Amino acid sequence: MNDLTPLNVRNAAAQHDASLARRGCPVSDLKDRLRKSGLRPTRQRISLGWLLFAKGDRHITAESLFEEAMRARVPVSLATVYNTLHQFTEVGLLRQLAVDGSKSYFDTNVTDHHHFFVEEDDQLMDMPMEVAVGELPAAPAGMEIARVDVIVRLRRLPG
Ligand SMILES: [Zn+2]
Repeated sequence: MNDLTPLNVRNAAAQHDASLARRGCPVSDLKDRLRKSGLRPTRQRISLGWLLFAKGDRHITAESLFEEAMRARVPVSLATVYNTLHQFTEVGLLRQLAVDGSKSYFDTNVTDHHHFFVEEDDQLMDMPMEVAVGELPAAPAGMEIARVDVIVRLRRLPG
């Protein structure tokens, strides 16, 4: 099992700072990212962060990350996977997408973008284009709109 692809460092700022010199050691990049986010780089966070971030942009549920962890022989419980995903989300390393009531997806791409969702396959895909979101309602007093998430649901045509 040797899929040690370099960490996909998406943060443009990070690419311009001194950490550039250490590219090629994705684990220490990951430790840096965790520390900068205010999370102690524990072994579990590093293992799960490795599974999450080493494969480029992706959308993953807690259950599927848990399965990956089992396959990679990372000793974690499903509860730990949930907690870690929520901690990563709180500090901005992940973005949580509630696609339907029962299932949350976590997106490693935290930049603003929208999604297609293929209902038959439970598959979430980045939308490759901008979406013109019509006129938005005014936010209630004392509030502002933080973000607009568009999920366009797809189904296959018969035949
Ligand atoms: Zn996405």
